[in-house]
This record gives sequence, C-alpha cells and structure tokens, in this order.
Amino acid sequence: MIIDRNMMNETIEQLLNEVSRNHREHGRLTDEVLSALRFVFQAPLLSALDLVDKEAVTTLESPSGRKVYQVVGTSGTPYTCYENSNFCCCPAYKFSVLKKNDHIMCKHVLAIELSNRLEKTKREQVNNQELCNIIQQIMN
Ligand SMILES: [Zn+2]
Repeated sequence: MIIDRNMMNETIEQLLNEVSRNHREHGRLTDEVLSALRFVFQAPLLSALDLVDKEAVTTLESPSGRKVYQVVGTSGTPYTCYENSNFCCCPAYKFSVLKKNDHIMCKHVLAIELSNRLEKTKREQVNNQELCNIIQQIMN
C-alpha cells in the first residue's frame, strides 16, 4: 500500500483525537477505535500499544523548554524522538517508513502519540547540557 501522507495527516489527527476522547469518556479504547487504529497504522500498532502499557515513553525536558521523547524499545534500547516529527533512528523507520513507505510511523513514534493521549507518558527534567548531549547522539 502506498501512502498519501497529506491525505493521511488529517485522518491520523482525527483518529488520535478519538483516542483522547475514548480515554476521557471510557478510560480505555473501544473496539471501534482499535480497529480504526489497526487499519491505519497496521503492524506497528500492537507493539506501540504494548510500549504504552509498559509506560515506556518518557519526555525529557530541559529548563530552556526544549523537549525530546525517549522510548525504551522491546529490546531495552532507548530511542530518542522529537516532538511533532515522525523521525526515529530505529531500523523499522528507515525500512518500513522511509524506504518501503508502507507504514505511516514506526512503533516508537506511534507509542509517543498514543501514550500522550492516554496520559501514560512519564516526565523527567534534564539540564540543558544533558539534553544537548542526547540530541547530539541522535545526529550521530
Ligand atoms: Zn522507531
């Protein structure tokens, strides 16, 4: 399946808003929303939900207001991702998102989106230097 990203963005936004509403109103995801999520995000969805369950997503914030996300993957490797970007340095991002274009986002970025809406994201303060180091590691 080839994905038209512009057309998808609006659908994704609506779907993620549904996730927030589900969480507020039912405290869980309804079957209807789950099937829609599975349809749009495909294979990475289950892994992402698993990461959310394990509370694997942490926001690292610095006093200067910069912020990155860290997701500890199934193998224990932490992946760092930026806010509002679907970039991830994991192999699945390079292969399934960039190259084959058959997944919209990898499980880490999807886990961040879901975790935020399900209010499962942990927060950690780091100092400016620490955050700089983390961002430099992503670049390398
Ligand atoms: Zn990833």
